[in-house]
Amino acid sequence: MTNSDVSRMLYEFAEMMDLRGEVFRKNAYSRAAKGVAELDQDIRELAEEGQLQTIPGVGEGISLVINEFIKTGKSDKLEELRNEFPAELTELMRIPDLGPRKIMLLHRELGISTVEELKRAAEQHRVRHIKGFGEKSEANILQGIKMLEKFGHRMLLGDALSLAEAIVAHVRSHDIPLITVAGSIRRMRETIGDVDILVGTDTPERAIDAFISYPFVAEVISWGEGMTIVRMSDGTQADMRIVPPDSYGAALLHFTGSREHNVRLRRIAIQKGLKLNEYGLFDMDDVNLIAGKDETVIYESLGLSFIPPELREDRGEIEAAVSHQLPQLITLSDVRGDLHIHTLMSDGRATMREVAQEARRRGYEYVGLADHSKSLGIASGLSEDDLLASVEQAHHLSEELDFPVLRGAEVDILEDGSLDYSDDVLEQLDFVIASVHLRFKMGRKKMTKRLLTAMSNEYTTILGHPTGRLIGRREGYALDMDKIIEGAKDHRVVLELNGFSDRLDLDDLNSRKAKEQGVMVALASDAHGIEQMENINLAVSTARRGWLEPRDVLNCLTFKELQTFLER
Ligand SMILES: [Zn+2]
Ligand SMILES: [Zn+2]
Repeated sequence: MTNSDVSRMLYEFAEMMDLRGEVFRKNAYSRAAKGVAELDQDIRELAEEGQLQTIPGVGEGISLVINEFIKTGKSDKLEELRNEFPAELTELMRIPDLGPRKIMLLHRELGISTVEELKRAAEQHRVRHIKGFGEKSEANILQGIKMLEKFGHRMLLGDALSLAEAIVAHVRSHDIPLITVAGSIRRMRETIGDVDILVGTDTPERAIDAFISYPFVAEVISWGEGMTIVRMSDGTQADMRIVPPDSYGAALLHFTGSREHNVRLRRIAIQKGLKLNEYGLFDMDDVNLIAGKDETVIYESLGLSFIPPELREDRGEIEAAVSHQLPQLITLSDVRGDLHIHTLMSDGRATMREVAQEARRRGYEYVGLADHSKSLGIASGLSEDDLLASVEQAHHLSEELDFPVLRGAEVDILEDGSLDYSDDVLEQLDFVIASVHLRFKMGRKKMTKRLLTAMSNEYTTILGHPTGRLIGRREGYALDMDKIIEGAKDHRVVLELNGFSDRLDLDDLNSRKAKEQGVMVALASDAHGIEQMENINLAVSTARRGWLEPRDVLNCLTFKELQTFLER
């Protein structure tokens, strides 16, 4: 039982309370879930000491729930709620803009409990007659369902990764040391079908018992020594494969994929008179095992450099591995700062000081603040006066903390491509991120021109989340990306790779294109709170999928180099 398990359980409670329309309790559970997630102490210790109520958001009632959960691995109250609200209903919450209140209304008035039923009702125009809905919201619902269908039953990488890591930690704690996440999560694809986990052990029963006792397993679909499949309470399917330790590396290779990559490897094996399958690398008569335990040794035995999982898509990595010319992929420790962070001054939740302290704690050499600009009312954009005052404050803070705090801004790109602050103001900032947040719907030509105009502004440093997509919710705006990359090169503008789980924008392919054209990329957390500075991890993963090396990335520069770059 880890802190993240407890936090996950409390979030599920919050979701159920939301469906029940109990806003107050929903907020209480969310607060508690967040409090637990941010603990730096093991929650089991706190429970033992009777100190659960020292966690922000945890009162007496919730502390009882946590205690029961830690002792028994479940919560009776949660089980009751799960029965009250079928999983299909929570599925409806995935439709953009359809909140719990509306879902319950549809459920009561029209008996709708599945996406399919809702689609039919909307198509037959039965939704528009319900109080609180109209023609417009009916059309929005249909549009939302269309997005959901296109996205399929896929999860965002960020969600899948945290679930998979929690399961792995749970099973590992039952004395199963050889275990890892496999499949497309290990390759860090931006969306994930189901969670794949691989175990190497000679005691499969113990691993299976541990797996199905994970608190969020709602149903065991099938189980056996080879593979066990379960469904989680949120509907996610997780598969655990078990192999003998001697085959662990070969199985890991096989179940990490991609299929295309593996097909190529098997072909190389055959050319060498060998045979590769999920049990190992053998000589042709299937007698002698050449390699199997260790993935790296299998690559070596095939005459290849080890290929990092993020590259295994048959996009040229095999050729590069044959000639030992794979890129030296960027890692988290190469990142020296984060330049896209919002503070309390606009719609962020942390003060400048808190951001700076967290940046130092993460081992960065500098940090950059980028609040929204004045036109963005919904995100409390800063007036010119407030912004300029904050430049001053940031520089004082730098001196006081002896840690560079750069003052920039995330400036809106207006409809005609001009920026939302005057040049006089922009000139006084350390850097400028130019982003589109409003008026997405324009033709491809016009939008491309709008961004090119913004990049031609001499103060623009970085183009923020360049395509504007929100994975599973909104397509990127119509855009000629080749022209944008060309423009970035001409104007020496850096393109952002935004690490928000539903953005990952630029994506892997466009990041690689930028690199090939000699355009730098900036990895960004776009954090609106301290905890979101963690988003940088997903930016790094996506950058790795885009073949980026430290030298391709703006915030891998040392502070000195960055200063030179910004002064130009
Ligand atoms: Zn933005
Ligand atoms: Zn932002």
